[in-house]
Amino acid sequence: MSIDPASAVMAAAPLSSIAAGPGEPPEDCPLCPRLAAYRAELRTLHPDWYNAPVPPFGDPEAWLAIVGLSPAMKGGNRTGRVFTGEKGGALVYETLLAMALAEGDYGARADDGLVLDGVTMIDAVRCVPPNNQPTRVEARTCRPFLEAPLAALPELRVVIALGEDAHRSAVKALGGKLPKARFGHLAEHRFPNGVRLLDSRHPTELQDGAPVLTAEMFEAVIARALVLRAEEPTGALRSPE
Ligand code: SF4
Repeated sequence: MSIDPASAVMAAAPLSSIAAGPGEPPEDCPLCPRLAAYRAELRTLHPDWYNAPVPPFGDPEAWLAIVGLSPAMKGGNRTGRVFTGEKGGALVYETLLAMALAEGDYGARADDGLVLDGVTMIDAVRCVPPNNQPTRVEARTCRPFLEAPLAALPELRVVIALGEDAHRSAVKALGGKLPKARFGHLAEHRFPNGVRLLDSRHPTELQDGAPVLTAEMFEAVIARALVLRAEEPTGALRSPE
């Protein structure tokens, strides 16, 4: 079946009441057959889970977008909110709370009342992949659903990519070229439209069984994003030159 991602709209209200707007994939998006089949299997096994493309979560006036790769089976796929209930979710959301970029409490559930201030969270691949690993074809197929919410943020100035796979999707969604924008923790890339991309290790990445991203390291990433924000003038995301 062929559907133009750019014209796909929500066919029905999502399974939980999280904001979804124009340019969002339908609840039964069929564009990645492997992921659609996995979603159907999970709906049968866990009918009380969200089991649908996970929408962005955050502030529609965000200056900062944090891009992850894809929802975890028992994380965003279960709760319906990006990074919520996932191993790295507490580190990300608690850091945003500590740095006054969120209000409330992170309760690892979509109805915990957490509100982000100036920040939006987006998964580059909206559907849960088997073994937490989408293919590059799936990442490319879902890219319009990353480009659209980024383009819809009028105040966007900084994008943080969590991990190398999210970095690849973010570079392409922002109109960049990968050979020129190599991934590295705290590496920075500036795009012709004025948006800065700042790389971070992924909060669930392990080395010798230990997390490679600590809360202090992620605080430093957010602190750098705040500096980059101050350097860039406010303005809508412009088309790459
Ligand atoms: S990952 Fe994206 S493009 Fe693929 S099925 Fe899900 S919503 Fe559709």
